[in-house]
This record gives sequence, structure tokens and C-alpha cells, in this order.
Amino acid sequence: MIVKLDQRLYEKMLAQAKEEFPNECCGLVAGESGEDIIEVKEVFPMTNLDASAEHFSMDPKEQFAVVKEIRCLGYDLLGNYHSHPFTPSRPSYEDKRLAYDEGAIYFILSLKKRDEPVLNAFKIKGRSEVTKLEVKIVEGGEFNE
Ligand SMILES: [Zn+2]
Repeated sequence: MIVKLDQRLYEKMLAQAKEEFPNECCGLVAGESGEDIIEVKEVFPMTNLDASAEHFSMDPKEQFAVVKEIRCLGYDLLGNYHSHPFTPSRPSYEDKRLAYDEGAIYFILSLKKRDEPVLNAFKIKGRSEVTKLEVKIVEGGEFNE
């Protein structure tokens, strides 16, 4: 399964992650889900209520409003993203423990190496089994295999 992400959206996430550094940033991801390709259409920055470098939680009210907006746009809620300011791009113990939605895609953007940010996407089953998905960052909506 390939997750296609526009360069513009990647940069939006990255800008937020840098802005909120050293805290984790978070947000919701919307798009279209196909058989083999999942296409991200928009990312929605959210407030990290925890204001922490190690975990995040979203404001339910804010979440509700964004989910409504996603529906209005005709997209699916694909999942969420958050940054790891100091740790690698993989789910932490806490991330797995809180991964209640097996259908969701969890994007993790690591700023461990400031000059080389790493973005990965995962599915998390049973709060323990982690599957890494292939992320393709594409420019201007172009998508070549
Ligand atoms: Zn995390």
C-alpha cells in the first residue's frame, strides 16, 4: 500500500513541526482511500493540548470541527500525524498504547536530525503490531511509479 503525499502538504507539516519545536505538533490527515493507493488531499494542523516534547493530545472540539470540514470537502479522515522532536520516526510505546483505531494511518515526522527530517506512515494493530506503509512525496500532484 502506497501513501501519496503532495510536497506542499509535506512542507506544511514540516513547517508546523519546526514552529512548535521542541514540542510535538499534531494534526489530522484527510484524503481518498483506494485499493492500493491512499492519496492525502489535505492536512489540518491541530493544537497539542499537552504542549509536550514526548506526547500529544488533540482538543476534541477542534477535532470535531475539522472532521466536519473534512466531510464537507468530500474526503475521508485517513488518520493523524505528529512530530517526534528528538526521537526516530516510529511509534513510541505511548503511541502504540493510544492507537485505538486500526484503520487509521499514523504519520510520524522525526526532527531528530534537524537537517534531515524523516516522515513515515504506519498502521497499528491491536495496539502493538506496527506496519510501515510506503510514503511517496510528489510534486504538484504528479505521480509517477
Ligand atoms: Zn509519538
